Amino acid sequence: MSKIKSPISNQRPDTRRSLPGIDRLLSQPSGASLIEIYGRALVVEALRSTLDAARECIARGEDIDLTDNALFEQTQTMLDAWLAPTLQRVINATGVIIHTNLGRSPLSEAAIEAVDEAARGYSTLEFDLATGKRGSRTLHAEAILCRLTGAEAALVVNNNAAAVLLALTALAGPTRDAPQGRGAIISRGQLVEIGGGFRVPDVMAQSGAQLVEVGTTNRTHLCDYEAAIDVGTALILRAHRSNFTQIGFTTEPTIAELAEIARRHNLPLLDDLGSGALLDTAQFGLTPEPTVQDSLQAGVDLAMFSGDKLLGGPQAGIMVGRSAVIDKLRRHPLARAIRADKLCLAALAATLTHYLKGEALTCIPVWQMISAPLDAIGARAEHWADVLTQVGLDCRIIDGQSTIGGGSMPGEMLPTALLALRVASADAASIRLRACRPPVIARIEANRLIIDPRTVLERDEADLLASLRGLGQ
Ligand SMILES: *Cc1c(COP(=O)(O)O)cnc(C)c1O
Repeated sequence: MSKIKSPISNQRPDTRRSLPGIDRLLSQPSGASLIEIYGRALVVEALRSTLDAARECIARGEDIDLTDNALFEQTQTMLDAWLAPTLQRVINATGVIIHTNLGRSPLSEAAIEAVDEAARGYSTLEFDLATGKRGSRTLHAEAILCRLTGAEAALVVNNNAAAVLLALTALAGPTRDAPQGRGAIISRGQLVEIGGGFRVPDVMAQSGAQLVEVGTTNRTHLCDYEAAIDVGTALILRAHRSNFTQIGFTTEPTIAELAEIARRHNLPLLDDLGSGALLDTAQFGLTPEPTVQDSLQAGVDLAMFSGDKLLGGPQAGIMVGRSAVIDKLRRHPLARAIRADKLCLAALAATLTHYLKGEALTCIPVWQMISAPLDAIGARAEHWADVLTQVGLDCRIIDGQSTIGGGSMPGEMLPTALLALRVASADAASIRLRACRPPVIARIEANRLIIDPRTVLERDEADLLASLRGLGQ
């Protein structure tokens, strides 16, 4: 340190000399306890940064506290900031059930246990206990998927975007016989963009398939598909308009009609379902989301959907359909690059088991939220209002709407009871809530802070109330 010469060092010799050396700081009890928590290398680096910063302050002629205590305090703050996890738990009070920015679907208890078990030790990921030989990793969720959906075969990959890419690449991508790729027919009304940069035409381009657009934005007829089919056609793709609706002068063939012409021309029909519900959403007053079972029954050869949207499981791309098609995908090199990991497969199998046992509504968090009765939500809101009124907060219970989110079921609302807090500034309050531990993500409407109990997990309730109480102080 003494080697560093700064132009003004001669003017402030006392202060400069009073900066302690790292070794002396490390040998003190405070230094030792920092080392115990953070490890020596990190503490040395943080102390060095603290002393560098102090030296710069001195050079600027600032009057700063150079006692050991102050230096240790700054070092600790720096270490905490370096090590603070960027991926942290938050409380979702927005009423958006499948909130993509907040991690989509929370897992069920059984799925969490399955992940825990798989993470903690070794597993039969690719090991067949009966033969003692190598087994298949993809087997774990696949048998359950076939049982649930009636499909001949299934394959699980990293996410649905990867599933669509794999299907298009393997079935219509460039080959030696067709170096330019082959035709994938899709309606102009289905060239959609889902959030996070997933655009159907871009994924098709990436796969090397030839995009063959048919029909118009609002109307596509069966004859448009028929007219587009030629020797270069590899497949017909249908993509679900997950995040918007079309009303008015619109039409498009049913899946069954598409399946009929696909079969007649010996082409596979692919269905990107997006969310892919396994349960009927109509029972909760929502528009029926196309179910995987319906799609397969209507004659689709390959249906693809996400694991963490309405299924309520881990991030995954699930493919179900005919063995001949799935086998082709399984053997493609891209399948290896986008394979699902053991934690995903463990969580997915456990999630799917809830559907098999008929307990999805009571065990899977997104379905618990969707099916939560309005009076139960109202009772929670009332209870919170009682608690918060006691600390002087102005609380009301108002009617409102929760949404499904996650690019699923656009415009679909579930009636809910909201806790509305009147505060001096809703913006300032929401900033304060985001700074809490765990952070609370709320909504603002008409300068009121809005809390929707529907998406607040039971485990989050005490923390939520503690943070909201803080607004009353
Ligand atoms: C959400 C969605 C995707 C992307 O799925 P991920 O699992 O997020 O990769 C693809 N297609 C449709 C129609 C979707 O709704």
